[in-house]
Amino acid sequence: MEVVFRPGQKTFFNTLRNRINQYFIENQITQEGNEVLYSKTIIISTLLIANYTLLVFFTPPQVWIQIALCILLGILFAMVGFNMMHDGSHGSYSKNKVLNTIMAYTLNVLGGNALIWHQKHNLNHHTYTNIEHLDDDIDLKPFLRQHMGQKKKWFHRYQHVYAYLLYAATFFFWVYVRDFVKYFSGKIAQDTPIRKWTPGEHFIFWFSKVVHITIFVLIPSSQVGLGHTLIGYVIMATFLGFILSSVFQLAHIFESSFFPVVPEPNQPMDIETEWAVHQIRTTADFAAGSKVLTWMLGGLNFQMEHHLFPKISHVHYPAIHPIVLETCKEFGVDVLAHPTLMSALRSHTLYLKQIGTA
Ligand SMILES: [Zn+2]
Repeated sequence: MEVVFRPGQKTFFNTLRNRINQYFIENQITQEGNEVLYSKTIIISTLLIANYTLLVFFTPPQVWIQIALCILLGILFAMVGFNMMHDGSHGSYSKNKVLNTIMAYTLNVLGGNALIWHQKHNLNHHTYTNIEHLDDDIDLKPFLRQHMGQKKKWFHRYQHVYAYLLYAATFFFWVYVRDFVKYFSGKIAQDTPIRKWTPGEHFIFWFSKVVHITIFVLIPSSQVGLGHTLIGYVIMATFLGFILSSVFQLAHIFESSFFPVVPEPNQPMDIETEWAVHQIRTTADFAAGSKVLTWMLGGLNFQMEHHLFPKISHVHYPAIHPIVLETCKEFGVDVLAHPTLMSALRSHTLYLKQIGTA
């Protein structure tokens, strides 16, 4: 399907980009990660290794401590995804390409695949946000109906309740189902073929899955037994999946979010605005004032800034946030933002309820 963005309001994005570039020049800083991001990496990695070692090799006898450590492990892995993998994949973690690649490939240790992610997220999701058949993040059919262009089923009336259970299962679905469906079907999204891989990339796909199972199942099993390992793995993966999925869903699926009307077959999809305005219409910030959430979520509560400037590391988003808001106001571009995490969750839930019966 051909997608047509309008060049009409280009002055808006040109002005905004110039102002953002000016901010970096005036402050004499680069747009990639800095010591804040590197110290964050050291803190998260240290906590992660300590947590895993304690849980697997020096397992505390108290069950509640074991459960708490599994939950914490899920949270820490989600933080690796948000803070290190995501920036690395966008090439914004560092000026150093090797470092970006290493960070991007942390996803393979987590059970996913950096190449599939790069094409699905960087190319499709970032260019065609909320566009049916191209943005894989809005393809949870038939379980969820995320916009009017998708077929309604009787059970969608309950989707605002069970959606969060689905999010908790995301990790398993991603690692053990969707990656393989994409791999064998050769499609990233309905209208996007997977790019041709080298034999080495095919090898990495399979090898990474083996590495993941070795770290998360085989090694723990040799220490605490298969039963305990599987229970711990499910607890860790449930929290990891829930956090990852919720954060990405909250950013684009909310009450006033925009979903272009799906055209007839062989017709182009007319977006009616320039690309940057489309990004703003489909993306919302949340809890921009929360330093704790910003630190933990790798700036993904500043999704609008991220979608406009994915090559800028997330550590700079709070600083460029006022520039984006001011420029949008000046050009009459409406911005959608939720003041808190709870208000974003409320809006997401209400939207799912509304679209489930509409
Ligand atoms: Zn991104």
